[in-house]
Amino acid sequence: MQRNNKRIGLMGGTFDPVHYGHLVTAEEARCQFGMEKVIFIPAGKPPHKTRKNISQPRHRLEMTWRAVGSNPDFTVSDQEIKREGLSYTVDTIQAFREQYEGWDIYFITGADAVLEILTWKKVEELLRKCCFVAASRPGFRLESMGEELTRLPAECTGRIKTLEVPALAISSTNIRQRVRDGRPIRYLLPEAVKDYIYRHGLYTD
Ligand code: NAP
Repeated sequence: MQRNNKRIGLMGGTFDPVHYGHLVTAEEARCQFGMEKVIFIPAGKPPHKTRKNISQPRHRLEMTWRAVGSNPDFTVSDQEIKREGLSYTVDTIQAFREQYEGWDIYFITGADAVLEILTWKKVEELLRKCCFVAASRPGFRLESMGEELTRLPAECTGRIKTLEVPALAISSTNIRQRVRDGRPIRYLLPEAVKDYIYRHGLYTD
């Protein structure tokens, strides 16, 4: 079937810190779904976050900029960080739809986050406005997606695509713990992000 609309990927996450698993996910999604570019959007105030000590938005934004620097197909938006209140994805997508009129929008994020989508603000409206790419780590049960999302209308579940990403064995949680324990983080994330973490004393509590 002929496809006319250009496609853009919006990469949503807390990125505390951004790592190679995220970068591989974005590149893989861009290639598989034919996106012109991918915009990383660090969440300002992520809804549902129970962890209180999320790094300051300015640090997460700066690390994300440093991570994407070498890829001309990637860029970063501070839209959620600049916006007041909680960072609801439906508001973000609406803003990008106005900016990218006529484009197909793909929201890329972790499969664990997508499993909770039924609790998100205006979920059906959200899935009408964009497709989702749910990136899963090794060991993630893809069937759980189908089991959890049965309460959504079929036309909505059809808008959620899955993407298995072996590199997502790397996780931000593990990187934060390694820094706290004084273990190495080299080769898990870009050198410039590693240097930023040490220079600013992030994750040492
Ligand atoms: P999270 O809890 O930090 O992440 C859940 C899981 O997904 C973690 O394993 C995480 O791994 C992984 N992950 C997160 N972002 C990813 C990405 N872009 N690519 C691959 N894996 C990713 O999730 P979160 O930051 O709260 O939420 C993710 C996105 O969903 C954000 O953009 C957030 O604003 C949005 N969200 C919206 C609503 C709403 O609108 N009501 C509610 C919840 C979340 P790492 O820790 O290694 O990244």
